[in-house]
Amino acid sequence: MSSQLLDRNVIVLGGMNVGKSTAIQRFLGNEFMDKYKPTVKDTHNKKLNLNDVEYNLTITDTAGQDETSLLDTSFVGSADVYVIVFSLSFRKSFEVAKVIRDKILDISGIETIAMVLVGNKSDLKADRQVSFAEAQALAQSYGCPYVETSAKENLNIKDVFISSVKIANRARGVGED
Ligand code: GDP
Ligand code: MG
Repeated sequence: MSSQLLDRNVIVLGGMNVGKSTAIQRFLGNEFMDKYKPTVKDTHNKKLNLNDVEYNLTITDTAGQDETSLLDTSFVGSADVYVIVFSLSFRKSFEVAKVIRDKILDISGIETIAMVLVGNKSDLKADRQVSFAEAQALAQSYGCPYVETSAKENLNIKDVFISSVKIANRARGVGED
């Protein structure tokens, strides 16, 4: 038992249509919907217990970026951890994920960022355009975890947020595990 309640600020980024909002809705406990209204910017709160510590997650859902649109820089610096999502069935979104990370690095001027790389839509097996090995290798080069998810089938969604808390803790120098 612990009376701790720790705030962690999670910002979810990625190209358009990769499933950011759907994944967040899944984590919040909502049903899968085939159509979502385009997101401008939304924040959600959800509690997560990890190793007997209670976390209050503030999750910011963002509008999708593409490689030409300038990332809304207003939230850079406020995150404890970035979740950068791409679609396994849309290769371009994998490239966008790299660009987004580069932009955050540029803007913040730090050497490494606390992030989790997420390849979503793993259920669309026949349409896969990015292999597990390739995405895993990219994450390894970033020193961050890689998680493959299906927001549709509710696969590994919770893992994304557990990984996020662990990475946020690591970045803060708080002991993990
Ligand atoms: P966002 O723009 O990144 O927020 O993407 P959305 O969450 O709005 O999802 C875009 C579209 O992809 C919607 O039609 C979703 O139903 C669909 N979608 C989201 N996640 C998945 C998934 O894991 N598998 C499949 N097959 N479709 C998904
Ligand atoms: Mg959205």
